[in-house]
Amino acid sequence: MRRILVTGGAGFLGSHLCEDLLGNGNDVVCIDNFFSGSKDNIRHLSYHPFFELIRHDVIHPLFIEVDRIFHLACPASPIHYQHNPIKTVKTNVMGTINMLGLAKRIKARILLASSSEVYGDARVHPQTEGYWGNVNPIGLRSCYDEGKRVAETLMMDYHRQNRVDIRIVRIFNTYGPRMAVDDGRVVSNFIVQALKGEDLTVYGDGTQTRSFCYVSDLIEALVRTMNSEEFVGPVNIGNPGESTVLELAEKVLALTGSKSRIVLRPLPSDDPVRRCPDISLAKSKLSWEPRVGLEEGLGKTIDYFREKLAV
Ligand code: NAD
Ligand code: UDP
Repeated sequence: MRRILVTGGAGFLGSHLCEDLLGNGNDVVCIDNFFSGSKDNIRHLSYHPFFELIRHDVIHPLFIEVDRIFHLACPASPIHYQHNPIKTVKTNVMGTINMLGLAKRIKARILLASSSEVYGDARVHPQTEGYWGNVNPIGLRSCYDEGKRVAETLMMDYHRQNRVDIRIVRIFNTYGPRMAVDDGRVVSNFIVQALKGEDLTVYGDGTQTRSFCYVSDLIEALVRTMNSEEFVGPVNIGNPGESTVLELAEKVLALTGSKSRIVLRPLPSDDPVRRCPDISLAKSKLSWEPRVGLEEGLGKTIDYFREKLAV
């Protein structure tokens, strides 16, 4: 049995990860400041004998003994990370330094949940890990994009300078049950709007693309990366099936049977035009590829929100 720390463990991805790790016989310590996560996400785990929850903000040091650290703490939705951008930078910089300092002291392996956002408004398509990105350093998304970039830098420097055992994954848009109703990301927005009979808000003309990965596939990849020996990354984790935002809206309408209309709203600044992962490295190094298609994953997510909204 390993003791595993999950930062951001009460969030969307973190809660699924805690559940998976407990299911595989690990002792899990979840820390969260509940900024964008919720106790509801982990309530079902609270009676598990090997689950422990600590309210803690990663911008402060933490003293604990564990074997491994999954470092996920950081708001992921643009509306959340732009709410207090200075705090987002602190979470990425000070939070990652604190977790790396901990990993160094206790000799624990640490995995960083980085993001496809490190590629910014990519000029290379699909995005490979070798691409250095096209990021606006002074825009509204910079607190998150540049925050993740410096978090990756810190990981690599602690690895080279202090021999900390690190793993870096670059996560592409992931969706599924336990996204918050007011999360603000596109999949949850469209599903909630469709189920409530409200207009689906497509930003811009809806021709921008994203590639959507179902949460169970993502969690499997996180665990495989952590367990792989000698493979530091960074590695892209996502589903290479690319859709325009308009196609996603139409799919959600068809799957929910909703009579909602699609309306166009202004495009947020620096919204990337095309995003799709090249997952060759994940396939070769982790023997991983996603298994859940978009319709199947959306179906499960719609079922979740139907129950949550009781509609
Ligand atoms: P989320 O917002 O649901 O979860 C983030 C969790 O971190 C929340 O529980 C939040 O309360 C917690 N948190 C935030 N700041 C904290 C702090 N300073 N101290 C302690 N806890 C803090 O988002 P998610 O989708 O679950 O994302 C998890 C991680 O994966 C994030 O690091 C995110 O950047 C990364 N990621 C996610 C996606 C995606 O599509 N879901 C894509 C790329 C990267
Ligand atoms: N988007 C949209 N309507 C919404 C929410 C998002 O059209 O209600 C668009 C957004 O402009 C972006 C895409 O959907 O082009 C994905 O947005 P999200 O916030 O989910 O993730 P990110 O932009 O970080 O990839």
